[in-house]
Amino acid sequence: MTREEAVADQRLARHRSRQTAKKSFDEMRRNFVIKFPRGKGVVAYVYEDICMGCIHCADNCPENVRPDHEDAIVFIDKTSYLPDLSFETRKSFIVDENCIGCAKCAVICPVEAIVMVPRPGWEVVEDKPVLVEESQEA
Ligand code: SF4
Ligand code: SF4
Repeated sequence: MTREEAVADQRLARHRSRQTAKKSFDEMRRNFVIKFPRGKGVVAYVYEDICMGCIHCADNCPENVRPDHEDAIVFIDKTSYLPDLSFETRKSFIVDENCIGCAKCAVICPVEAIVMVPRPGWEVVEDKPVLVEESQEA
């Protein structure tokens, strides 16, 4: 095999690998969109222990990217402890009142650190937020 042929082979393999990765991501994304309830009755919740501070959620949050809106996702530094040392790690934090319940952050989080939970007075029934009248505050 000539050098040119080897390079062409390598390019083709890389192209196929990218296509496979894209297909996997699309599949994953479709499943996640189905998995998370969305709407004003739910709010994002971050499992702090799982969050690795990559900021993908904030980059994809519509409230964070709109300049005229207050951020729905902010980051806080948390101290973690091991037997012989402590260290600071960045964690995602949801500002409940600014979250519109779109679930984009939950879909995009690479480690599934975000879930959508019902707001007070709401329940999630068959993956949809449902208002529970009797639980509403006067
Ligand atoms: S995308 Fe997930 S892991 Fe990354 S900062 Fe947000 S919650 Fe944490
Ligand atoms: S659910 Fe939507 S609005 Fe709320 S924090 Fe996540 S991306 Fe932002």
